Amino acid sequence: MMNKTGVPLLFEISTPGRRGYRLPDLDVPEVPLEELLPAEYLRQQEPELPEVSEIEVVRHFTQLSRLNHGVDVDFYPLGSCTMKYNPRVNEDVAALPGFAAIHPYQPEETVQGALELMYNLSQYLAELSGLHSATLQPAAGAHGELTGLWIMKAFHEANGEGHRNEIIVPDSAHGTNPASAMMANYKVVEVPSDGRGGVDVEALRKLVGPNTAGLMLTNPNTLGLFDENICTIAELVHAAGGLLYYDGANANALMGIVKPGDTGFDIVHYNLHKTFSTPHGGGGPGAGPIVVSEKLAPFLPGPIVVKQGDRYVLKQPEKSIGRVKGFYGNFSVLVKAYAYIRSHGAEGLRQVSETAVVNANYLMHHLKDLYDLPYNRHCKHEFVLSGRRQKEQYGVRTLDIAKRLLDYGVHAPTVYFPLNVEEAIMIEPTETETKETLDRFIAAMRQIAEEAETDPESLRSAPHYTPVGRLDEARAARQPILRWRKA
Ligand SMILES: *Cc1c(COP(=O)(O)O)cnc(C)c1O
Repeated sequence: MMNKTGVPLLFEISTPGRRGYRLPDLDVPEVPLEELLPAEYLRQQEPELPEVSEIEVVRHFTQLSRLNHGVDVDFYPLGSCTMKYNPRVNEDVAALPGFAAIHPYQPEETVQGALELMYNLSQYLAELSGLHSATLQPAAGAHGELTGLWIMKAFHEANGEGHRNEIIVPDSAHGTNPASAMMANYKVVEVPSDGRGGVDVEALRKLVGPNTAGLMLTNPNTLGLFDENICTIAELVHAAGGLLYYDGANANALMGIVKPGDTGFDIVHYNLHKTFSTPHGGGGPGAGPIVVSEKLAPFLPGPIVVKQGDRYVLKQPEKSIGRVKGFYGNFSVLVKAYAYIRSHGAEGLRQVSETAVVNANYLMHHLKDLYDLPYNRHCKHEFVLSGRRQKEQYGVRTLDIAKRLLDYGVHAPTVYFPLNVEEAIMIEPTETETKETLDRFIAAMRQIAEEAETDPESLRSAPHYTPVGRLDEARAARQPILRWRKA
């Protein structure tokens, strides 16, 4: 790794014998370790640890932290990921000892507060989704999808319709949708998009039938477009005996405006770590609760929290598909989502969605003359440009544009997704950005469009100002080096 002067940063800094901290000599009689621990638990060799001084450790980790880009550093318009600012108060609340220090084996009567929080959070998610009851167990969006599909399967089986083995998924779907359907042992049937970016209803009409178990849909879809035919789509799937699954990973566009349940969906998952402000991106704990309609409630994973008089108790739903996660899910993520919902209130959540949508339309409006916009309609929380013009006219690819953006100090948008847009650039600003930040991003994107014309080589060799240049991304993902080993 290099800094901007081209002088390499030192990464391997261990020096034999160097120490960060020394304990004073023992001033009590020493007991031999062999007397304290059985011999088989004693280390035979010295541990292989880096030998470094305290200041070297501090600088090493501080420098590493500064090589990374995050929402706390600058703009992060990564479409489909909702990289919004996470209010610190949520972290403070989750760290309160009454939440952080309780144990999952504690008797119910000693954790009434935690159960109340889970109960209320389930109710809030039911209210937002327009559905009946929730499980908070799933640890991620994809995990919620799998859980929802298992519930679908259990429901069909209970009705003597276990033969239904097809899940319909649009071509613009998030990759986890077909993957989850495969994992739940379904056959994936793809439905194409129409000219306006929504589900092609005529194609869907031909695909639904006696084998349809359900349809998975995200609305607004990954193009950031609200499907205007959603009620017709729901009717077609329901008439064929199927269920509708709503991928609500990014619920940032609809909170307090549209309830998925009102548009015909039977199952919804929410990504608390996207919409409800838990920091994500490093693979940390998340939560993908699902909410289901009344007829599916008996199949939910258990236990769920129910209210009896003024007590909260744990109950196993009658036909539960069983547990999908140890204990109660990632509890601290639930606390943060609860704090987020309570601090915003109903009005505040609606405002979040309105602002997210206005911000995305503002960016789209100021970029659509210089980049292709395949679906020129009002967008919701995100929109998808295409770098086709830059590729055809100047030999500059979307990847080059994304890499050049790093030189401007912002994270690149999602690129090459969704798959149904050539050279896709998927931009999601979120509601937490100021107009000044949005304007700075517009200026950067406009300048890059000009550079593509006047100096395409500078884009093809970008980034120029980051600690590392272009990486072998396939190897970085497949052979990551995540821990120190003695050389
Ligand atoms: C992020 C996302 C998912 C998957 O969520 P994970 O928590 O990463 O498993 C599913 N669908 C959509 C539309 C998403 O954006």
